[in-house]
Amino acid sequence: MKFSLFSLARQAVGGAAWPPQWRDAEPKPAYDVVIVGAGGHGLATAYYLAKEHGIRNIAVLDKGWLGGGNTGRNTTIIRSNYLRDESAAIYEHALKLWETLSQDLNYNVMYSPRGVMMLAHNEHDIRVFKRHVHANRLQGIDNEWLTAEQAKAFCPPLYIGSDARYPILGAALQRRGGVARHDAVAWGYARAASAMGVDIVQNCEVTGISRSPEGAATGVETTRGAIHAGKIAVVAAGHTSVLMGMAGVRMPLESFPLQALVSEPVKPVMPCVVMSNTVHAYISQSDKGELVIGAGTDAYTSYSQAGGLHIAAHTLEAICELFPSFRRLRMLRNWGGIVDVTPDRSPIIGLTPVPGLFVNCGWGTGGFKATPGSGHVFAATIARGEPHPIAAPFRLDRFRTGQLIDEAAAAAVSH
Ligand SMILES: Cc1cc2nc3c(=O)[nH]c(=O)nc-3n(C[C@H](O)[C@H](O)[C@H](O)COP(=O)(O)OP(=O)(O)OC[C@H]3O[C@@H](n4cnc5c(N)ncnc54)[C@H](O)[C@@H]3O)c2cc1C
Repeated sequence: MKFSLFSLARQAVGGAAWPPQWRDAEPKPAYDVVIVGAGGHGLATAYYLAKEHGIRNIAVLDKGWLGGGNTGRNTTIIRSNYLRDESAAIYEHALKLWETLSQDLNYNVMYSPRGVMMLAHNEHDIRVFKRHVHANRLQGIDNEWLTAEQAKAFCPPLYIGSDARYPILGAALQRRGGVARHDAVAWGYARAASAMGVDIVQNCEVTGISRSPEGAATGVETTRGAIHAGKIAVVAAGHTSVLMGMAGVRMPLESFPLQALVSEPVKPVMPCVVMSNTVHAYISQSDKGELVIGAGTDAYTSYSQAGGLHIAAHTLEAICELFPSFRRLRMLRNWGGIVDVTPDRSPIIGLTPVPGLFVNCGWGTGGFKATPGSGHVFAATIARGEPHPIAAPFRLDRFRTGQLIDEAAAAAVSH
């Protein structure tokens, strides 16, 4: 991985930090594009800008280490069986890219399409999921309805007895859904982007966004100096409001801690991913053998990368009801990330009121699965200066025009 402090310093000539005689009369952009946030989405954006649009003079800046944000903290569920056409389009675009990502990056991201099953526990759930199945069929996306017995056959440790507090009445199954190795996704995109000339600068926090007298974004202030940029792309999940506030843009976002936890490693026991919106838990098994369990978001906004333990305890109650045989497992560790959530629970991708400033955020609890698709359409949007057709419905001004994309039932964890 390249650390380009020297090139940063060299290219920052013309920045306010330099003596006047050293500054350019008319500072040129040091980078064509500066991407703020070296998570999966930021790194994928850099990769596709370099690979598909020939823009390689790019810096990806992160205040910590690459992949140290939500990308390295999530439970890696991948699926595309969303309800709205706009959502299904972007998540399916991503799913198709997942299928060949290891080959494209020449890096094993361990994408494993082992099937994602969403459980129905009451009449309302049955109607919601059958509606999803029908909508997905019209969209050309695989999703099928299973009886409780078929769900049990697909996932043997599942308890389907009628004496359960929330009995299982059926399930929706997307067989192409699954999981991937989150760190490998960040590393794979980073290595491939770096090989094409992209600079990735860690421990470099963006503290300000500079603008020309006409109002266009012209560069960033960082803890390692000023950097000029032709275009700036903010992809800093959880912290987007803070960064966009530096350019005077108010975002319709709230930031919440979201947690996950893993059990001690055991032999393969969970063949698929199981999600339950109603009892509020989801679970899969990593290749290391740990059961990976997703908990809910905290009720209060915060930037703490931890979250209240009572949320994790509630999730474990739910898991033990669904899988009584897991009661005897010990939990190894838990952690949290900061997710930013929009009023309609759909992401924001695209242009902003500030010329030269682009934003990609608001993926809430479910943006890992979108990583390749998000980076792909965001790169096209930045390169062309207009929204990629798949990204167009997710523009920021939908909160002014009212063209919302209400996907509130999309995730198994609280919104
Ligand atoms: C516990 C948990 C479980 C989840 N489970 C799933 C799941 O199963 N499936 C799914 O699809 N999604 C899931 N998600 C959501 C998913 O992780 C995110 O939507 C996705 O990873 C966001 O990727 P990103 O690249 O946008 O953000 P991140 O990976 O968070 O990257 C943003 C980067 O911006 C950097 N940054 C912030 N501020 C600054 C600054 N001022 N200057 C420089 N850099 C800055 C951060 O350090 C960070 O590295 C989960 C999230 C959590 C927390």
